[in-house]
Amino acid sequence: MIKNNKIYDMIIVGGGPGGYTAALYAARAGLSTLVVEKLSAGGQMALTHQIDNYPGFPGGVDGFTLGQDMKAGAERFGAETVSAQVTALQLDTPIKEVTTQTQTLLARTVVIATGANPRPLGIPQEAQLVGKGVSYCGHCDGMFFRGRTVAVVGGGNSAVAEVLFLSRIAKKVYLIHRRDTLRATQVYRRQLERLENVEILWERAVTRLHSNERLTGVTLKYLPTGQEEELSLDGLFVSIGRDPANALVQGALTLDNAGYILADETTKTNLPGVYAVGDIRSKELRQIVTAVADGAVAAYQAEHYLP
Ligand code: NAP
Repeated sequence: MIKNNKIYDMIIVGGGPGGYTAALYAARAGLSTLVVEKLSAGGQMALTHQIDNYPGFPGGVDGFTLGQDMKAGAERFGAETVSAQVTALQLDTPIKEVTTQTQTLLARTVVIATGANPRPLGIPQEAQLVGKGVSYCGHCDGMFFRGRTVAVVGGGNSAVAEVLFLSRIAKKVYLIHRRDTLRATQVYRRQLERLENVEILWERAVTRLHSNERLTGVTLKYLPTGQEEELSLDGLFVSIGRDPANALVQGALTLDNAGYILADETTKTNLPGVYAVGDIRSKELRQIVTAVADGAVAAYQAEHYLP
């Protein structure tokens, strides 16, 4: 394992909007800054075809382009990027260690920007059909299903929000839920009741996906009896929660009950010089705008923490 002797002022783990905004602000403040990112810049955002709720883009912007541009903006001020998977972190020492498969990198501050991933159903063909009828984001992909028949799986606020959004685009929206009551709040449930093109399929689980290149339908199991039925669909939106990408910090940082890093608006974690930004931080609203705000705040905090 190579031990790189350079000590960065800040290493950012994760190259999403929160991570690259921290890099931009840190680099502009004159801190030596390195982003370690796994795939392409932008994180989850890079998978979004059309982003209409990030201000400054009247015609919207695609997430991949926005990610590349955020990266270029940080690099313009000297931030460096390395493409690597982080395998371990040592965070409770003044000089912190970020270990990848090939080297150990050193820094005085570390920003955790690893994000959260949509929880999959875990059934056969699901991964292969992503982008071919299966989606984890109605707000991102809903426009491709104008006038079509779609279903949302889940019973929480996110699932109902997806249904409300999709009901304005699709011809028919089914909500498939495994229990006979929704977890979503009453405000959401009332809005749902008013929609004529929405039908709730209670106590059902999706057991199989049918496809012919693209998704054509699903098999549902009616859980009280075990009886199976088929449903023709153009799109299936899975909205059964998200899993925070916290594997690297378990045991080191304090997490909330759902597994997100406990940090308030200052982005400070329980360890000095360690900050949590974007979707991995405990917060109410996980959006690009809130992630970039976190990134700016983390860099500001680090600047004041550093000697
Ligand atoms: P959530 O509240 O945890 O709901 C997840 C839903 O998916 C539950 O109904 C759950 O069923 C179901 N589910 C979980 N695993 C499943 C599986 N393997 N198969 C089928 N169904 C499964 O998650 P969320 O809706 O993503 O919301 C996350 C947080 O963000 C919540 O705190 C939520 O209130 C908040 N949020 C708030 C708003 C808002 O207020 N505007 C909007 C969106 C999200 P059970 O009900 O049976 O457990």
